[in-house]
Amino acid sequence: MRQSKLFTKTRREAPSDEQAKNAQLLIRAGYVHKEMAGVYSYLPLGLRTLNKIIDIIREEMNAIGGEELLLATLQDPEVWKKTNRWDDEVVDVWFKTKLKNGSELGLGNTHEEALTALMTEHISSYKDLPRYAYQFQNKFRNETRAKSGIMRTREFIMKDLYSFSKDSTQHVEFYEQAAAAYERIFARAGIGEKTYRTFASGGSFSKYSHEYQTVCDAGEDTIYIDEGTRTAINKEVYDDPDVYATTGIDKTKLVEAKAIEVGNIFTLGTRFSEPLGLSYKDTAGETKPVFMGSYGIGPGRLMGTIVEVLADEKGIVWPKEVAPFAVHLVSLGKPAGGSLTSRNSGSQTSSAGDEITSVADKLYEDLQKAGIEVLYDDRDLRAGEKFADSDLIGIPTRIVVGKDAVATGEFEVVDRATGTVEKKSHEELLKI
Ligand code: ATP
Ligand code: MG
Repeated sequence: MRQSKLFTKTRREAPSDEQAKNAQLLIRAGYVHKEMAGVYSYLPLGLRTLNKIIDIIREEMNAIGGEELLLATLQDPEVWKKTNRWDDEVVDVWFKTKLKNGSELGLGNTHEEALTALMTEHISSYKDLPRYAYQFQNKFRNETRAKSGIMRTREFIMKDLYSFSKDSTQHVEFYEQAAAAYERIFARAGIGEKTYRTFASGGSFSKYSHEYQTVCDAGEDTIYIDEGTRTAINKEVYDDPDVYATTGIDKTKLVEAKAIEVGNIFTLGTRFSEPLGLSYKDTAGETKPVFMGSYGIGPGRLMGTIVEVLADEKGIVWPKEVAPFAVHLVSLGKPAGGSLTSRNSGSQTSSAGDEITSVADKLYEDLQKAGIEVLYDDRDLRAGEKFADSDLIGIPTRIVVGKDAVATGEFEVVDRATGTVEKKSHEELLKI
C-alpha cells in the first residue's frame, strides 16, 4: 500500500484525556480512533493488525477442532431468565434496549445462553459429542472502569469458544488442548515469554479456572508467579490453601507482578446445559446433561497488550506475525509530479530525487510480486518526519531508499525492534 493513499495521519500528541499508553500510541500512529471513553474504532492500519491477530486465533481454534459460527448480538431475555442472568443485580454489565412494542432485549455480553439453547436442536446423542463452536463477535459490556485504552472497552470483539462434552473426562481432554492452543497463540503474538497460565477462581463447577496473564505494569490484575513451572496464581485465590495443595506450588517462592488477562479457559460443567435443557442420551439410553467449557480471548485486548509490552520510547514495535505490514519501504526521493514542499524550495529538483523514486517504485513492485506485504512511504515529506512516523507505526523491517542506495545498489535495512542496520541488495531483499 502507498502511504500517500492512506487517509489516516500520524500525530505528535495523543488526546489529553487518553491515559493508557496503548491507546496513546495507537491513536498517534493512526491505528484507532477514540469515539468516547471505552469506545474505539479501528482504522485501516488497526484493522489489518486486528485481523492478523484474529487469523492466528482462528488457525489455532480450527486446529483443535473448532467450528466457526456467528451468533446474534441481540439477546432474548427469556433465555437468560432461565439461567438467572437477566437481572441487573446478577449481571451488572448489561446494555439493554427495547422493541417498539416496549418489550426488552439485551446486547450480548457473552454467549453461553444463546449457544446452549441453539445446541438443543443439534445435540441429542452421545454420538453428537464432543462439539466445539466458536466465533469472533462483538460483546457489549457496561464496564465501570475504562482507563486501559483498547484493553477494556464497552464494545469489543471476543473470540469465544464453547465446548460440549459427554462428561468431565472428555471435557478435560479438550480443556488441555485448548490450553496448549492458547500458549501457541500468545507465543505467535510475541508475548509468550511474559504470559503465564494462572489459577483463578472458577465459579460453580470447578474450583479454579485458568487465566492467561501477561506481566505488565499497566495490568489491572495482581498475580503471583512460579517461574519454575511457568504458572501463576491470581491474587483472588492467593490465600486459598487448596490452590497450593492442588498445584504443588510453593507459596514462599512466588513473585508478585501486575498483569493483563489476555484470555481465559473455564469449566462450566452443567451450569448452563441443565437450566436450558441441553442433554444427550448415553450408550445405555439414559438422558444426561451436556458438560460444557468456555474459552475466551479479546483480540483487541491482546493488541493493546502487545503495544504495552513491546513499545519503546519511539513508538510501537510489532512482532512479525501481527504487524500490519512486513516491510516499511521509505523512499527519500521526490515523488513523481510532486515537489518537496516541506523543503520549501523550488530549486531542489535534482535528478537524484527522481532516480530514487524510480528505484523505490521498482523495489515496491518487486517486493509485492514476491508476496511481501509492504507499506510504501512515497509521501512528499522530509526524511526526519518519515523516520519518526516509521518508528511510531512500528513495522518490523524498514528499507530505506536514498541517494546511497541508488549509487551502490545496497539498501539500508533497519530492524525496528533492535535498531540493527544491515545492507542488502535488491535481490536479497526479495527473500526477506
Ligand atoms: P476481566 O476480568 O478483565 O473483566 P472477564 O473475566 O470479564 O475479564 P471474560 O468475560 O471471560 O473476561 O472474557 C474473555 C476475554 O475477553 C478476556 O480474557 C479478555 O481478553 C477479553 N475481555 C473481557 N472484557 C473485555 C473488555 N471490556 N474489553 C476488551 N476485552 C475484554
Ligand atoms: Mg469483566
